[in-house]
Amino acid sequence: MSGPPLVPMIHAIEAAEKPVVAAIEGLALGGGLELALGCHYRIAHSKARLGLPEVSLGLLPAAGGTQRLPRLIGVPAALDLITTGRHVTAAEALKLGIVDQVTDHNTVDAAVKFALSVREHSLNARRISNNLCPPPSDLDALFEGAMQKVRQTARGAVAPVACVQAVRAAATMPYTQGMEREKELMATLFTSGQARALQYCFFAQRAVGRWSMPSGARWDTSKPRPIHKAAVIGLGTMGRGITVALAQTGLSVVAVETQEKQLMEAKQAVSGMLKRGAKRRGVAPVLDLVSYNCNLQAVADADLVIEAVFEDMDLKKKVFQQLSAVCKPGTLLCTNTSALDIDHLASQTPNPELVVGMHFFAPAHVMKLLEVVYGSRSSPQVVATAMQLGKKMGKVSVAVGNCRGFVGNRMLKPYMEHAFFLLEDGATPELVDQALEEFGFAMGVFRMSDLSGLDVGWRVRKEDGLAHPGMALGQAARVRQGRRYSPLADLLCEQDRFGQKTGMGWYQYDKPGGRVSRPDPWLHSFLEEYRARHGLVARRIDHQEVLERCLYTMINEGFRILEDGIAAGPEDIDMIYVFGYGWPRHRGGPMFYAGMVGLERVLERLEHYHQAHPDVPYLQPCNLLRRLVASGSPPIHRWREVIKKVRSQL
Ligand code: NAD
Repeated sequence: MSGPPLVPMIHAIEAAEKPVVAAIEGLALGGGLELALGCHYRIAHSKARLGLPEVSLGLLPAAGGTQRLPRLIGVPAALDLITTGRHVTAAEALKLGIVDQVTDHNTVDAAVKFALSVREHSLNARRISNNLCPPPSDLDALFEGAMQKVRQTARGAVAPVACVQAVRAAATMPYTQGMEREKELMATLFTSGQARALQYCFFAQRAVGRWSMPSGARWDTSKPRPIHKAAVIGLGTMGRGITVALAQTGLSVVAVETQEKQLMEAKQAVSGMLKRGAKRRGVAPVLDLVSYNCNLQAVADADLVIEAVFEDMDLKKKVFQQLSAVCKPGTLLCTNTSALDIDHLASQTPNPELVVGMHFFAPAHVMKLLEVVYGSRSSPQVVATAMQLGKKMGKVSVAVGNCRGFVGNRMLKPYMEHAFFLLEDGATPELVDQALEEFGFAMGVFRMSDLSGLDVGWRVRKEDGLAHPGMALGQAARVRQGRRYSPLADLLCEQDRFGQKTGMGWYQYDKPGGRVSRPDPWLHSFLEEYRARHGLVARRIDHQEVLERCLYTMINEGFRILEDGIAAGPEDIDMIYVFGYGWPRHRGGPMFYAGMVGLERVLERLEHYHQAHPDVPYLQPCNLLRRLVASGSPPIHRWREVIKKVRSQL
């Protein structure tokens, strides 16, 4: 169904001889607000929210929004609203001058009364398109600053830039010409591909809430359990953030930490986070909801426990055994492990159906992603409870199956491995990071590794028997378990180069804990020596090769995850990457991006690189990718049909 074209309708309203008052209730977003801006006056209910959110869908407000709003409230305020897409309350709208009055009563009655009171007034000045923008003191400097700010945060997204250009037209051109410019800019956005990616994300974010498990259990047939009291075990980096996230939903939380000193520090840190969060949201802090204890017995009456002790299977097993003995019957036992086997942990308890992974991302009270990891015996009710709790905490929760690293960290492995191989082949950390950051990642792989600490992966590789001192120097230094291996990260760790925390890693920092990275001449000569020792000849690596090798291997692993049934659909993988791993939203997530590049091309490049590096199994194109290409590369929303066929033949 299509209504009358919006722009002529808004023009007709604005041109009317009788005063037209918009009565705004609920949401006036996008076209709704643009329509209201065509009216001569605007009255909003106190609970109304207003905004021009088009930018978040890769578009701009193209029914005159970019031309009228700056004329009404001035360029700086309009730039803020249009380039961020943020919604404002009725009170803020009144302050900004978007609305003329706010009412707590019946909005239509108030609007009629208002219209009668202004019926004698001239409408000329009320027709926004007739007016000029209030002139800012230095127009050029203002727009230059705005453009710089937008380019810094947009990470390659084109819509915010187009929004600035459209507002500039409002400030410098007559209305009719400004409207032409708005239309032209909108046309470029439509064809950019980013709008499609952003709209895909909008729907995918909602779709992941409609989860399903291979058993057939689903979101709409599984009832969550009520949770009144939660507990967190281990108050390190993650436990503190999880405690804050839980308390902010209004749950009472028992926070347990065995180390006395850690417990005291955690208490201070959690209280500080709760206070800052409450201040930001303009509410009272809920400090009383959290109680601290050094004894596990304190969790006896919790409905749900989240374990966040060190990533050590033996320790976690012990904690799960203790929890089974202490907790009341029916308590959900959740683990925040990054990669360990949920089934193995579940087998430590008499009720494995009550065990589920709740994998938060650091900092847990800020990051939007939650992977809810079901084991082979997790009950649908327990998954439903964890998913609902995630939603209450404001997370994008994605239900995934149990495997090493689940979805996010499993796909990160080939991505990082390839970054190391690129260094061996001739690249530098700066070159690789620059290619990935220009692509739109919040942080390149080496900067990210320095931030999270190189020792984390080293510990895992040592446990897996892949790394131990001296191994990196031996004959078989670059082959482990029959496949190509790069010991570069291990060699850095052996020199105590753990990243930001030690002031040096892939980059150098001004001090331990410093955040500003600088290229490190030591690292460059270390790489040269390393290559010489192993007879490797450095060659020129370009950005294209970085992207293809890092991203296509990651995508290939994503297809394997779909084939294995660990993720139900490509949207699940994409939302995990957008909300947990800094993947640029305007590129839709790795699986959507594969479709944009073209599945044939991804397949062809993987085959090409696999031929060049046959000792890298991650480069071998997976069956599902081949089948999709053989089926004519269907659009992403039709992949599930092919996935089903492939899985039924396994
Ligand atoms: P951390 O080292 O900062 O904190 C672990 C805390 O657990 C310590 O304070 C320790 O004293 C406490 N602890 C140890 N044994 C205990 C016990 N028996 N009872 C109560 N407390 C105990 O670790 P972290 O970074 O917060 O990681 C915790 C878990 O979260 C790990 O499984 C890790 O893999 C996972 N995780 C970490 C991150 C991250 O970025 N740090 C992200 C996602 C998941």
